[in-house]
Amino acid sequence: MENVPWNQAGYGYVPQPIRNDGAGAPDFGPRDVMRDLENPDMLVPPVTDAGTIPNLKFSFSDTYMQLNQGGWSREVTVRQLPIATTLAGVNMSLTPGGVRELHWHQQVEWAIMLVGRARITAVDQDGRNFMADVGPGDLWYFPPGIPHSIQGLEEVCEFLLVFDDGHFSDLNTLSISDWFAHTPKDVLTANFGVPKSAFAHIPKKQRYIFQAKVPGPLESQKVPDPYGTVPKAFTHRLLEQKPIVTPGGTVRIVDSTNFPISTKIAAALVELKPGAMREMHWHPNNDEWQYYISGTGRMTVFAANGTARTFDYRAGDVGYVPFAFGHYIQNTGNESLWFLEMFKSDRFEDVSLNQWMALTPPELVHDNLHVGPQLINALRKEKWSVVKYPGTTGYPGSC
Ligand code: MN
Ligand code: MN
Repeated sequence: MENVPWNQAGYGYVPQPIRNDGAGAPDFGPRDVMRDLENPDMLVPPVTDAGTIPNLKFSFSDTYMQLNQGGWSREVTVRQLPIATTLAGVNMSLTPGGVRELHWHQQVEWAIMLVGRARITAVDQDGRNFMADVGPGDLWYFPPGIPHSIQGLEEVCEFLLVFDDGHFSDLNTLSISDWFAHTPKDVLTANFGVPKSAFAHIPKKQRYIFQAKVPGPLESQKVPDPYGTVPKAFTHRLLEQKPIVTPGGTVRIVDSTNFPISTKIAAALVELKPGAMREMHWHPNNDEWQYYISGTGRMTVFAANGTARTFDYRAGDVGYVPFAFGHYIQNTGNESLWFLEMFKSDRFEDVSLNQWMALTPPELVHDNLHVGPQLINALRKEKWSVVKYPGTTGYPGSC
């Protein structure tokens, strides 16, 4: 190359947009080599990728961090990932004692604790309260409009919140401090039957997240409730749920059938072992919103009319699959890939390509695809969500 002043050097391995078949040419820059290393299937798409499919990936690392005394939050909504209209995600961390203030919102809140422990509180429309401590793998669910709070316990905690509206923002919820700040003192006096002096020190605006002391043990904080507790628990211990085990990994499905309060959001926690693949499938009920928890993987989405596109994912990424589009996910690393599949639905539902073919007349399958007994006899009538066959490698690019 000519010695231009902006020539870059210093990277050990610099991937180039050149495929095995020779298609492509070197990229002499400008370029972001770190990004290219993280997105090998964007730089060199599989030869079967084609056409225009909108972006189906957004990293929480590319979002605005709302930093507060007491914790932080960041979110992936339609503002970051425009196609993701069904659900929005918020990633939040609270310090020991850090409080996500008493608030409520129009959307349901589904959550999973990723690291550490927190205490949640809520009161329903019939005056029944709920309080619980949640740890790694525990879920909680607040129906729309139900007021609640979250507070970090002794250790720092981090969790994912999912809302049933892609336009949601956690920075725009109905907060107790905000309402107090925007209500005349004489109205507060009339409402609570106490003098104005009782409100001399109320916050002047929404607090959102703030630092407080670590609360005492759960039992010491319980408020006796003449109406009892909520009839359906707002929490669920997902990791205590026995997983579906298949060759290649595990799946834990949670929806209104085993977490009855969760009538608006269904989920599956999927583990793909190295070399394993989430089988070719689609969902007949709604779009899929994904959150990648650990490991690395790639997903290819098929969108009809000869279009297919592959994206690479890693911890902290959000993925998305429009309703009914075919897709599969491969583990591209040497450790398990853990991710969540989320749906705005009361039920988890998927259609397995393999199972569909196994339960269709073989002659018809043959006439469609020109495949013989070698494939027809291997089809499975039972669903294996995660597959791994001896002698095959799910990745990279085996043929
Ligand atoms: Mn909330
Ligand atoms: Mn899926």
